[in-house]
Amino acid sequence: MKAEELFALLRRRGYLWPSSELYGGAAGLYDYGPLGTSLKRRVEDAWCAYFLGLSDDYHLIDAAEMLPEAVVRASGHLENFTDPEMRCENCHAAFRADTVLEKFRPEGVDGLDPTQIAELVKAHGVKCPSCGQPKLSVPRPFNMMFGVEFGVTGKEKVYLRPETAQSSFLAFPRMWDVGRKALPLGIAIIGKVYRNEIAPRQVLFRMRAFTQAELQIFFDPAGFPISFPTVADERLPVLRADRRAHGEESPQWTSATELVVSGGLPEFYVYHLVHMFRFFRDVLGVPGERIRLFEKSEKERAFYNRIQFDVEVHLESLGGFKEIGAVHYRGDYDLTRHGAGAGRDLSVSKDGRTLLPHVLEVTLGVDRSLWALADAGLHTDGDRTLWRIPAYLAPASVGIFPLLWKEHGPTARRVARELQSAGIRAVYDEGGSIGKRYARMDEAGTPYCVTVDGDTLTAGPMAGTVTVRERDSKSQERVAIEGLADRLRPRLSLPRPAVH
Ligand SMILES: [Zn+2]
Repeated sequence: MKAEELFALLRRRGYLWPSSELYGGAAGLYDYGPLGTSLKRRVEDAWCAYFLGLSDDYHLIDAAEMLPEAVVRASGHLENFTDPEMRCENCHAAFRADTVLEKFRPEGVDGLDPTQIAELVKAHGVKCPSCGQPKLSVPRPFNMMFGVEFGVTGKEKVYLRPETAQSSFLAFPRMWDVGRKALPLGIAIIGKVYRNEIAPRQVLFRMRAFTQAELQIFFDPAGFPISFPTVADERLPVLRADRRAHGEESPQWTSATELVVSGGLPEFYVYHLVHMFRFFRDVLGVPGERIRLFEKSEKERAFYNRIQFDVEVHLESLGGFKEIGAVHYRGDYDLTRHGAGAGRDLSVSKDGRTLLPHVLEVTLGVDRSLWALADAGLHTDGDRTLWRIPAYLAPASVGIFPLLWKEHGPTARRVARELQSAGIRAVYDEGGSIGKRYARMDEAGTPYCVTVDGDTLTAGPMAGTVTVRERDSKSQERVAIEGLADRLRPRLSLPRPAVH
């Protein structure tokens, strides 16, 4: 499905729609309906279960969405959080330089300065996408943060956070003080971030408000204790920067051990890259061959990142590999900058040594993950829509139907209540034909449907049994109500990482 079709389907089915739709919408802002909200929560829960499962010293916090100016000055965002913006001197429309050049330079313009970009525009004879005149200006840096007046005087300025990471860096000294003073210490945040995109587009891919799930791991640069044997044999689809420089675009399946021994990457970094890959493959259910771990070259990555691999997923709707997450080795940049900005040494004492922790960042775009799930899993077949999502991510786990509402309703309600008290997300539905009810559950991705019918209530071999239908295969089996929760639960549990 193309992006427009996929969005039309999601909108029609009530997963998400443009924010302030009643007033014509606001570019780059979207609202999630009940199913979309549920699915988003499930992805966030799965992310927490997986990444906080890596260590008992990794914690989730909740932080304010506004940052004082001093914070974004110290972090470098005030100066550097910019996109090259080009204006048309004829019609005054504004564009992102990479959008204007994407036909000629699909890899983007990271690492190019304004003069180089302007030369490319000239060399390819690029015209204004709005009016068609060759009148595009030399790009200027456009800061993507939203500044907000703070307080009654309007003299204080704060910024809507452009990433959740900063709040984790700011929380580090407090977390160190109140915690058990162990490294690595992980501080995770899931929440909204805000970017004033020049050209929001591709629905959930370039939004002005979106949700990030980020884990900042503070560690002793002298050693990051991990169990490398648990990942050593995993093969990863990597595209290294040096191979890209030779025009390669396909990933090369390389074992974690090889990446360390001949690939020159530190063990702790590869370990987390493996876990990121496993999260996408084993938790989000993205087939390994649709994943690419794309290394950013020194020129392309942010200057403070020592190593950066983007996790990309091949999306039919957007015609290629798209970045959904990343693993960044940020060194001591963040604690150095905030230490200087706040006038406080953020070093810690450990085993008689004083050290400034380094940071490894594991980051995921939650909205983009949802889009990837829809891209891969949402299918239409005539009137039928089927969403194949991993069972534990589905907004509801089981639909419970009475074949006839009057006769079988009370028993079906009881089965639903029993499953709910056993911690299973069961929903009762008596509206319309059985076919209609299956269809509703299929498009919500509900993995199982349970039907109570005449045989359930009649004495005989089928007494006390129900039909359980599986979403993807449509296969049905007859099972006893007794023990139904125990039967379903193992198929619904969230995967956790193997760390020992
Ligand atoms: Zn123009």
